[in-house]
Amino acid sequence: MADPIIVGEHISHRYGAGFHLHVDRLALSAARTYAVYGANGSGKTTLLNILALLTHPQEGRILLDGRPVNDSDPARSRGYRRRVTLLMQHVYLFRSTVFDNVASGLRFRGVAKEALEERVTRMLSKVGLEKLAHRSAHSLSGGEAQRAGLARALVTEPDVLLLDEPTASVDAAHGRQIEEILRETCRQRRMTVVLSTHQYDQAHRVADEVLIMRDGRLIEAGPENVFKGRIDESVDGPVARLDCGVTLRTNTAVRGDALVAISPREIQLSRSPHPSEAANRLEGVLSAAAVDGDRIRLDVDAGLRLTVHVARASFAGMGLNVGDSVYAAIGASAVRTQ
Ligand code: ADP
Repeated sequence: MADPIIVGEHISHRYGAGFHLHVDRLALSAARTYAVYGANGSGKTTLLNILALLTHPQEGRILLDGRPVNDSDPARSRGYRRRVTLLMQHVYLFRSTVFDNVASGLRFRGVAKEALEERVTRMLSKVGLEKLAHRSAHSLSGGEAQRAGLARALVTEPDVLLLDEPTASVDAAHGRQIEEILRETCRQRRMTVVLSTHQYDQAHRVADEVLIMRDGRLIEAGPENVFKGRIDESVDGPVARLDCGVTLRTNTAVRGDALVAISPREIQLSRSPHPSEAANRLEGVLSAAAVDGDRIRLDVDAGLRLTVHVARASFAGMGLNVGDSVYAAIGASAVRTQ
């Protein structure tokens, strides 16, 4: 994978004695869409505000293109803010027309009148607000205001767009429309998108990679290894019956419908069906392998698509090639519920 555009390192931020956000490492690649999925209060807004440099974490740092961004170098922070735009959950529109609101970022950047008009008009039509261009922004409905905010963010063509629950206050149809605009813009402009959501379906619909946030921690990275299913009691103890048809032994205390997650680091691969103590053993095929820093990310098709992280050095010793048959061993305690 190419070098990440933004990296958050050892980020730690507390609100008093209560909430504590702790993210050891978060790497965002160019032209990729990430969803930060988590319940209300899990820390999504705090994380996005840190990535937007609105909140300064008490510990840790943000790197842009491999170089730290901090207040001791204001020009660099300014450069970062030009390339990274945050669309807040409750969009604030100025007391002016829709057109002026969408144009504001371009005016600030000194874009000439003609180019500005052309870009704003094109963007308004993209979000379906061209007929409302000269209306007062404060007369817009919630969904329209959200789209105006999105247009204002997109028109400046940021490299990275952060969106905090962009569809939380709009109806389902407008939510889908916003998702579609994002998808299309990402494709056309190779923009990186980080979108927070408490809707599991949305996370998986829009994102290349889903980051799950719980109690201030990113507990899983990857679109992989999070499955819908149901936890039932069986004669051998609890089992996770996944919607994809695979059943896995688990130790979870949860029963009923659940999201089931398996950490990519807790899956052991081998070339032969070695006798393993693991409660779950699946046979599959290695379908992809990619270098990711000092580890290799492997995709295995085993009735479900599993992503497995293996240290580079261990992978070299395994003698595995894409297309090979592999066996995946997963302990019952590694099959967790969200
Ligand atoms: P989310 O976006 O996932 O709903 P937030 O990042 O908004 O989560 O909040 C995480 C936790 O931190 C919540 O418990 C929230 O009440 C608390 N919190 C957020 N902002 C502040 C603040 N400025 N002061 C104190 N507590 C805060």
